[in-house]
Amino acid sequence: MKYGEEHHLKVLFTREQIQARVAQLGEAITGDYRGAGELILVAVLRGSVYFAVDLSRRLEIPFVLDFMGISSYGGVSASHGIVRITKDLDSNIAHKNVLLLEDIVDTGLTLNYLRRNLQTRNPASLRICTFLDMPARRIVNIPVDYCGFTLPDLYVVGYGLDHHERYRNLEVVAALK
Ligand code: 5GP
Repeated sequence: MKYGEEHHLKVLFTREQIQARVAQLGEAITGDYRGAGELILVAVLRGSVYFAVDLSRRLEIPFVLDFMGISSYGGVSASHGIVRITKDLDSNIAHKNVLLLEDIVDTGLTLNYLRRNLQTRNPASLRICTFLDMPARRIVNIPVDYCGFTLPDLYVVGYGLDHHERYRNLEVVAALK
C-alpha cells in the first residue's frame, strides 16, 4: 500500500464499500427530507469535508451547504468536551432543517457541544449524520440519526480522518497501528 511507509495501515473499508454506503445514505436522506422545507447541511471542519462532498452529490433535494469550524482545547479539557468555535455558520438556521455531518462520533463530547449550541438557534429540526460511529467509546449519549459504518474501539484514518494531518486524502478507511 503506497501510503503506509511510516505507519502500518490495515484497510477496513474500501473505496467501493464507502461509495456504496454513502449512496445508500444519500438515498435515505433524500427520502426523509423530500418536501420537508429548507435543508441546511452543516459539515464540521475539517474531517467531515470529504464525506460531506460525496454525500451531498447523492442528494436529490435542494440544500444549502455550510461549515462550522471547531477545535477542542487540548489536554484535560478535551475530555470534558470544551470546544471552541473557530468558524461559525454563515446561515441563519432558525426554522430550518439542519443535518449535522460528522466524520466520526467517538466519545460524543464534540457533537454534544455542537448539538446544544445549534439547538439554541431554534432550528425546525436537528439531526446527526456521521460517517463512522464508535459506540464503545461513548461518554455522552448522542442520538445518531444516520451512520455510515459502526466500528469497534480503533484508531482510524482516511476519508477525511487524519493522524497529525496525514492520511485525510485516503479513499479508504484504515486502522492505524
Ligand atoms: P469525540 O470524541 O468528541 O466524539 O470526537 C471528536 C473528534 O476526534 C472527531 O471528530 C475526530 O476528529 C477525532 N477522532 C475521534 N476518533 C478518532 C479516530 O479514531 N481517528 C481519528 N483520526 N480521529 C478521531
